[in-house]
Amino acid sequence: MSKNTHSFQAEVAQLLHLVTHSLYSNKEIFLRELISNASDACDKLRFEALDNAALYEDAPNLEVRVAFDKKARTLTITDNGIGLSQQEAIDHLGTIAKSGTREFMSRLSGDQKADAQLIGQFGVGFYSGFIVADRIVVESRRAGLPADQGVRWSSTGTGDFEVETIARDKRGTSVILHLREDADEFLNGWKLKQVISKYSDHISLPILMEKEEWKEGEDDKGGEMVATGEWEPVNKASALWARAKKDVSEEQYVEFYKSISHDYEAPLAWSHNRVEGSTEYTQLLYIPAKAPMDLWNRDHKGGLKLYVKRVFIMDEAEALLPSYLRFVKGVIDSADLPLNVSRELLQESRDVKAIREGSTKRVLSMLEDLAKKAAASTAAAPAESPAADGVTDVVDKKEGEPADADAAKASEDAGKYAKFYAEFGSVLKEGLGEDFANRDRIAKLLRFASTTSDAATVSLADYKARMKDGQEAIYYITADTLAAAKNSPQLEVFKKKGIEVLLMTDRVDEWALSYLTEFDGTPLQSVAKGAVDLGQLQDEAEKKAAEEAAEAFKPVLEKLKASLKDKAEDVRVTTRLVDSPACLVVQEHGMSTQLARMLKQAGQKAPEVKPVLEVNAEHPLVKKLERDEAHFDDLANILFDQALLAEGGLPEDPAAYVRRVNALLV
Ligand code: ADP
Repeated sequence: MSKNTHSFQAEVAQLLHLVTHSLYSNKEIFLRELISNASDACDKLRFEALDNAALYEDAPNLEVRVAFDKKARTLTITDNGIGLSQQEAIDHLGTIAKSGTREFMSRLSGDQKADAQLIGQFGVGFYSGFIVADRIVVESRRAGLPADQGVRWSSTGTGDFEVETIARDKRGTSVILHLREDADEFLNGWKLKQVISKYSDHISLPILMEKEEWKEGEDDKGGEMVATGEWEPVNKASALWARAKKDVSEEQYVEFYKSISHDYEAPLAWSHNRVEGSTEYTQLLYIPAKAPMDLWNRDHKGGLKLYVKRVFIMDEAEALLPSYLRFVKGVIDSADLPLNVSRELLQESRDVKAIREGSTKRVLSMLEDLAKKAAASTAAAPAESPAADGVTDVVDKKEGEPADADAAKASEDAGKYAKFYAEFGSVLKEGLGEDFANRDRIAKLLRFASTTSDAATVSLADYKARMKDGQEAIYYITADTLAAAKNSPQLEVFKKKGIEVLLMTDRVDEWALSYLTEFDGTPLQSVAKGAVDLGQLQDEAEKKAAEEAAEAFKPVLEKLKASLKDKAEDVRVTTRLVDSPACLVVQEHGMSTQLARMLKQAGQKAPEVKPVLEVNAEHPLVKKLERDEAHFDDLANILFDQALLAEGGLPEDPAAYVRRVNALLV
């Protein structure tokens, strides 16, 4: 193949433009990205070589070399990993494969400044080389291909790149950066070592650099460092999770997290344990501070990195955690799984089942810990003690935080649970439906807004502690927005009696709550479903008055039912309303009108729910029904449509509604 020119995929060109124009404030990250790619390439080789040892050729020791040439102004990162074939170079270094990055690109606004901020939050991988280089040459040969089938890829990072065939003895990849004028600092061994130890110490392969020596200049010329031709490792080269906790600093844990998650923010918490027992493994689990943009995408892959005895097996091993914990990042290193384990095998393995259970419990107790810290700081409710955790033998129990945290740290810790919940609370709720074994623990971690708190800070335990004497249920309402929930007519009697109601406005609430029928022995009851039964909260006199009113209203009720037979499943008198004339409720086990509406909006089939109209027999508008024969039908329909409007719905025939109201107004 002679030299061929290819155009970058449009998104790449856009990304490159951004990289070169906006990332110069944090130049050094390119080295982290390129070393991380080199390390991945070595992991891939090791994995493929499990079935084909010949791929090692005559170089079984995997390593990364970093070298610079002051005169040529180049910096070269070389690995002896899997390498790239010509086609792979064209495919991988000219397009963007990662869905997260693609998603990110689609969110760019075109506003240079805002986009620059966004991109700083992303691992831009290989293309970050263009932060410091105005030309990048990649020379590579894929392991297993003959020496004459190497490839040279080169580009100045604008519209296109060139690819040609070269001969290359050694398998693996060299990335040669031709440094920009303002990137001189990376032609310095000391600086490079500093950056490598900051970002890449945890890389389990040796990263080698040439040893340098001070050489005095001749005559009056100053001396300089010169290479000796002897290579030495500049990182620790032991997998971070395999080290003892005391040998890993907080900063190293954070850097490791950033490198595996492509997140720019430090994690909220982590937990590092060696688990011994019937199955042996090391777990290093992180709770991120921010949800990735594609958390809700169908093709979002959660999961942990799986290693078997330090050998990388796969990314995004979803079998290692349930889907409702898909936001957790980290590493599992198993001592028991076979090296050739596949995704399919993972699903069935008993060891994996044990790892999954142990890791789930570990994550839940990390969350309980964060929640406890938040509770301790507000002292709103007695802190719950985390349930015993079932994981056998945890080597020294440090959850990422030194015990002697100072006051500032404590207040920072206090905000962490709220931060977590704002980002991942909706995902966690899926666990109610997904993980029956841990349902109670998950329920304790939930937080809601309520009629006493706009912020989602009320736990079910807080709620229970505040229940009125004689109150038999935990009351809640679901709505599209907090305002709609708060102003919902169904709440009137609860407000009047000072009974707290949880306000649920999250899309998943209704579905999730259908799995949580009770908490700690107390049933959960939607105030928009079924007839209200305030039980002992209603006194005898009230009950009697209500019954009498209902009796007196009966004839009107029958007429109402007839008028609204196409719209309402039933019409009945209620005591739940104080100021409003009417409201809609659904039958005890029916789907709420709100959920049905949501499904419809999402283009999905929703069962036709005919709600029940409940009327307040004391309300002047309702009383008018008894007197105003002529307008009965109009009034009845207005009553129904207004109840629908009040909960955020739309009358089926808005024009008819307007006509009726206007007729009454004149
Ligand atoms: P990412 O590594 O996040 O997938 P990059 O843009 O950094 O994205 O790299 C794109 C692809 O190029 C990689 O997925 C890999 O297939 C290939 N690649 C990059 N660097 C190397 C390397 N040193 N050796 C082999 N392949 C590489």
